[in-house]
Amino acid sequence: MSKQRLTNSQIVQRKYRDIANAWMNIHLLIMVGMILVSVLMECLVYFALGSFQVSVTTPARYVRRYVLTPLGLNLLLLAIAFFIRRSTTLSETVRAGAISLSAAGMGLVLYTVHRIFPAMSLALMVPIVLTILYVKAGLTALTGAVCILGKLLSDLFVNWDPDAAPVSLIGADGVNQFVCLFLLALCCLVSILLVRMYRQRIDFSVNSMLEQQRLRKKTITDSLTGVGNRRALQEALCEMAHRNCGQWFFAMMDIDQFKHVNDKFGHSRGDFYLQSLGRILLGYEDDMFQPFRFGGDEFCATVQKRSLEEAVALFHQLQSDFLHAVEEDASLISSGISIGLTACGPGEDSQSILNRADTALYQAKKVQRGGVSLWSPELEKAE
Ligand code: GH3
Ligand code: MG
Repeated sequence: MSKQRLTNSQIVQRKYRDIANAWMNIHLLIMVGMILVSVLMECLVYFALGSFQVSVTTPARYVRRYVLTPLGLNLLLLAIAFFIRRSTTLSETVRAGAISLSAAGMGLVLYTVHRIFPAMSLALMVPIVLTILYVKAGLTALTGAVCILGKLLSDLFVNWDPDAAPVSLIGADGVNQFVCLFLLALCCLVSILLVRMYRQRIDFSVNSMLEQQRLRKKTITDSLTGVGNRRALQEALCEMAHRNCGQWFFAMMDIDQFKHVNDKFGHSRGDFYLQSLGRILLGYEDDMFQPFRFGGDEFCATVQKRSLEEAVALFHQLQSDFLHAVEEDASLISSGISIGLTACGPGEDSQSILNRADTALYQAKKVQRGGVSLWSPELEKAE
C-alpha cells in the first residue's frame, strides 16, 4: 500500500520540532559567545586594574584562577550541551532541558568566579531568558530555580577569591544580595508569563489554522466515501495542468451493474459498496495517486507513474482489491469495476482529459467490463 500523507497537525508538530532544533543551535552559539566574552572581559579587567595601579595577584595565578579554570569548566558544559544536542535518541524536551541547564551552569561558573563584581549576578538572567523560545513554562521555571538556588549555594559555600571578603547576608551587602535574588526571581516570573502568553497565541493561531483547513477539507471531500469530490477534482486537474510533472494518467472508473445492488439489496447495501471502493482508493492515496468521486458510482483518479504499464498494473490491482472486498456478492456484480484510462501531458485542458477518459470507459463497458481500456484516437473515430 502507498504511503499516507501527513496530517495537518503532524505537519505543525514537525515545524515546531524544526524551530526548536534551530533555536538549540542558536542557544549553543550564544553559549560560545558567553565564553568568548567572559575571557575577553577578564583580560581587559586585568589590564585595567594594572593601569589603575590596583594590586592583583601574580599574572600566572590570575590567568589560572580567573581565565583558565572557568574557561575549562565552561568548555566542559558546552561539550555536554553539544553532544546532547546531537543525540538522535533523546526527546526534544530532554535536549532543550539539558542545553538550558548547561547554560545555567555556565552562568553560575561565571558568577562564582567573578562574584567580586556584584553586577555579575545579572549574568544569571541570560540562561533564564534563553529558554523562552522553547515555549515550555516548566523548563523556564526549572532553569530559573537552578540559577537562584545555585547563586544562594555559591554565596554560602563557595569562596573562589580568598582575597575577597565572604558574602555577607546582613547590612548593605545583605540588601544587595536580596535585590539580586529579587531581580532574578522577577526575571524568572516575567519569562514564565511570556512563555504562557506566547503559548496561548501559538495555540490560538494553530487551532484556527487547523479549523480552517478542516472546513476546507470538508468542502472538497465526498461525505459518503471520503475521497475528493468534483470540486477537488477540478482543482487537481488545474494544478496538474500548471505543474510541470511530465506524463501522467487519468482514469475514470464505474462500478458494473451497480443498479442491481441497489434494486436487490437496497440503497444502504449500495452505499456500502461505494464506501468499500472509497476505502480502497484512499489506501492508494499519496502524492502520486489522488482519487475522487465523480458522482453516483463513478470514481476517477490522477496517477503519476513512470510508464503506462505501471499505471495499468495499479488499476488491475485496484479492481481485484474491490472484488475481494465485495466477495460475498461477486455473483451479483460479477465484473467489478470498468476503467477508462488516458495518458495526459502538462498544460492540458481538463474537459478534454475527462472526455477522453469517458470515451475509454465507454469502450470498457462495451467490450471488456471489469477491465482497463486505454484511450486512443481510433476510439473517437469508432464512436
Ligand atoms: P453499468 O454497469 O453500465 O455501470 O450499470 P449500472 O447498473 O452500474 O448503472 P449506472 O452506473 O448508470 O447507475 C448508477 C446508479 O448508482 C444509479 C443510482 O441509483 C445509483 N446511485 C447514485 N448515487 C448513489 C449513492 O450515493 N448511493 C447509492 N446506493 N446508489 C447511488
Ligand atoms: Mg455503473
